[in-house]
Amino acid sequence: MNSPSNDAIELLVELVRRESVTPEDAGCQQIIGERLARAGFELEYMPSGEVTNLWARRGSGSPVFVFAGHTDVVPTGNPDHWSSPPFAARIVEDHLIGRGAADMKGGVAAMMTAIERFIACQPQHRGSIAVLLTSDEEGAATHGTCKVIERLQERGERFDYCIVGEPTSCNELGDTIRHGRRGSLGATLIVRGRQGHVAYPHLADNPVHRALPALTELTAIQWDQGDEHFPPTTLQISNINAGTGVTNVIPGQLSVEFNLRYSPQSTIQNIEKRITELLDRHRLDVELIWKDSARPFITTPGTLTQVMQAAIVEHTGITASLDTGGGTSDGRFIAPTGAQVIEFGPINATIHQVDECVSCSDINTLTRIYESVLLKLLGQQEE
Ligand SMILES: [Zn+2]
Repeated sequence: MNSPSNDAIELLVELVRRESVTPEDAGCQQIIGERLARAGFELEYMPSGEVTNLWARRGSGSPVFVFAGHTDVVPTGNPDHWSSPPFAARIVEDHLIGRGAADMKGGVAAMMTAIERFIACQPQHRGSIAVLLTSDEEGAATHGTCKVIERLQERGERFDYCIVGEPTSCNELGDTIRHGRRGSLGATLIVRGRQGHVAYPHLADNPVHRALPALTELTAIQWDQGDEHFPPTTLQISNINAGTGVTNVIPGQLSVEFNLRYSPQSTIQNIEKRITELLDRHRLDVELIWKDSARPFITTPGTLTQVMQAAIVEHTGITASLDTGGGTSDGRFIAPTGAQVIEFGPINATIHQVDECVSCSDINTLTRIYESVLLKLLGQQEE
């Protein structure tokens, strides 16, 4: 076996230089696959549509520990607004600037380096280490992690622990572990009326006037109280459109888009029922299209959260808090397998922004944290 590179930053530079704008992988998984193969992993590429997915596993026993992540990145926006080209991976002082540096090629580079170091000192580790990578996390997320998990479940594979290396830290590396995420339910509501002249309202039916009391009521609903792990469910209206652009026409229809971020205290069925009843009560002529984008998940504090917290304290002195905030993540596809799933990675202050960056020293510390987790979960106890 080749001696493992001890430098996560070298790998990070290599990955950021690949322009893997979702759903492109741009060769990132090839680089990683070659390294994993050298470390004794068996590789299975599982492409789906335009998406590149990699499942790699070392060992056949349990417990099965999975590192999960994505190699795709969001678009850069106008590259002229960046202080250095977004795929140049330029390092200024301690910061590596580049699209995907924090979300989440930094986490991926740290995982790979941690695995290589762990295997170098524990070639006969307990259980199995696996890696799940996709290039479809920032996009539709329909051909990525969900497809790989589906295939693995079909053949009866089981997982015990999974760490997703998403950027979860807020102010300093180690302050936040995510052990669950809220669900996301979107909707487009069309309220129909009848178009007419504003001077002849008796000949028209204004959908704006009809909808306003219902919308006001909708935004005031208390969906649930949340629970010890989740804040209460919220609804936000994101778009309202009606009108022809002139001032003397009553519009014929109104369209409203809204989204709920919901805790496991609410279900899709019960949210949809409450909203449908409300609209019925207001006697609106509506069309309602739902989009079930993500189901909530929770990993109750246990072995994995404890091991992660201990590893973080060891390398940073910080006691990480457990949190379920933020958007959605691929953890939602892995959690239903029964595995303990948590997310932990670098500071997320610049993700999806111009001049996205990550601290090189944080990536090195993150590598040591991941390595400690492997050691605690899969290391051979000395007799
Ligand atoms: Zn991400």
